[in-house]
Amino acid sequence: MDNESTGHAATALAPRAELWIGGAWRTSANGDTYDAEDPATGQVIGQVGAATTADVDAAVAAATAAFDDGRWSGLSGRDRSRILLRAAGLMRERTEELAQAESADVGKPIMFARNIDVANAADLFEFYGTLAPHLDGAVRNTPLPAFAYTLKEPRGVVAAISPFNFPLILSSSKIAPALAAGNTIVHKPAPQTPLSAQVLAEVLRDAGVPDGVYNVITGPGAEIGDALVRHPDVDMVAFTGSSTVGSIVAKTAGELLKPVAAELGGNGANIVFADADLDVAIQAVIGGFVFNTGQFCMSGARLIVERPIYETVLGILGQAVGQVPLGRPSEAATVIGPLVSNAQLERVERMVQDAVAAGARIVTGGSRVDLDGGYYYAPTVLADVSNDAAAVQQEVFGPVLTVQPFDTEAEAIALANSTPFGLAAGVQTQDVSRAHRVSARLEAGIIWVNGWAMLDAAVPFGGVKASGWGRENGVEALESYLRTKSVTISIAPATDA
Ligand code: NAD
Repeated sequence: MDNESTGHAATALAPRAELWIGGAWRTSANGDTYDAEDPATGQVIGQVGAATTADVDAAVAAATAAFDDGRWSGLSGRDRSRILLRAAGLMRERTEELAQAESADVGKPIMFARNIDVANAADLFEFYGTLAPHLDGAVRNTPLPAFAYTLKEPRGVVAAISPFNFPLILSSSKIAPALAAGNTIVHKPAPQTPLSAQVLAEVLRDAGVPDGVYNVITGPGAEIGDALVRHPDVDMVAFTGSSTVGSIVAKTAGELLKPVAAELGGNGANIVFADADLDVAIQAVIGGFVFNTGQFCMSGARLIVERPIYETVLGILGQAVGQVPLGRPSEAATVIGPLVSNAQLERVERMVQDAVAAGARIVTGGSRVDLDGGYYYAPTVLADVSNDAAAVQQEVFGPVLTVQPFDTEAEAIALANSTPFGLAAGVQTQDVSRAHRVSARLEAGIIWVNGWAMLDAAVPFGGVKASGWGRENGVEALESYLRTKSVTISIAPATDA
């Protein structure tokens, strides 16, 4: 391999122009790179390796060799556990570097990058590291003249394809359970956000993950993502991204009869009943739509408010939302940073304009914010939005909240369930019976009562309808990286009976 080099750590702000394949950094097969951009300034901050399909082949070959010779799958669960727990510790030690990487790539406010992204990603390695020694099969009671049991086995080479909005968390939510189960991985981060995967490669190496077990290829999603999904030696696809791309990936994987875990788009409904504790509800509403500058698959972007408190809630939001600190990601007080790219900024702007043209009322926001040439958009509340507006039926993926009134519980549920998506939903009420009743009828994979975005490594999330069917976090995610094999051993009748 003449184009490889042994690695030094990626610096806090500059990406590497190389791919991590077989435990070494190497330039792409044709030497191509692309620009990495800082969303807070629109400036180019470095070059990223642009993989070709030849690099996909090389990365899959490295992962296949690492799986086949048992250097990882052949370790005991306890040994894998020790390494994953060490990785969790190293991630915590390298919090600042990982947080700076996340912030530079996504424009994520640094305090969130440190306290949520890195902390939660390390939790995932700890959670699945702790489960790795417990991948037990079961003895099955059967009338067969046999002793029957099941084995839990890794699937093989996993293609992990992740989106731009939570690069480290949503990579770790695949990589940690996949590794705990004994699989090897080719990871393709989103083109906009390669940095944390580059740091993670070195963290995993330093923790003792053998060469070739975790590989990172960066580059154009449609071309190398598709090549990865199609590759005959990829045994499973773990995909998080938009429903549009998820549908393409699922179609390809389906034709090839490969298992695919799909975590797709969302446009969460947050229902506020008149009996809600308004302080708690308002916190959930504002946090729910500004978190990660609204670039959150589980964003509470659709507020559905019981009519007697509709204008009161709008009044509070009109006062409070503009106070949420918007600014440079590097500043400790910042809650809302820039959007990830100019394309995303233009999309958000267009969707707000379309909603207003269709009769929505701007309560607050509704415009770009001029700061350092970055992609900033003011947190925006749109009232009286018609249910067929694109801002309701599609993902805006920016700090935009649509607000609609309702009169009955049944109407609230119908509105909440009226989009193609079904990822997250919320119920703000002090009536416990109503909380259970409504949660049961909402079409979403996770429901938050009196809060928003209560997420943890132990609690599974995932979608229904166009939001996909995979589950991440919890023991449920670990199961998806395992196959069950049954063994029956005949018991011959006694010959001297
Ligand atoms: P995207 O769908 O544009 O891209 C996701 C990933 O797929 C990227 O790595 C991309 O390069 C790759 N890709 C693109 N075309 C491909 C192809 N033809 N074959 C294989 N891979 C391909 O999504 P994005 O803009 O990066 O992320 C935002 C989207 O992700 C939103 O829709 C959001 O709701 C969704 N999301 C879902 C969850 C969840 O848990 N359900 C979590 C975060 C984000």
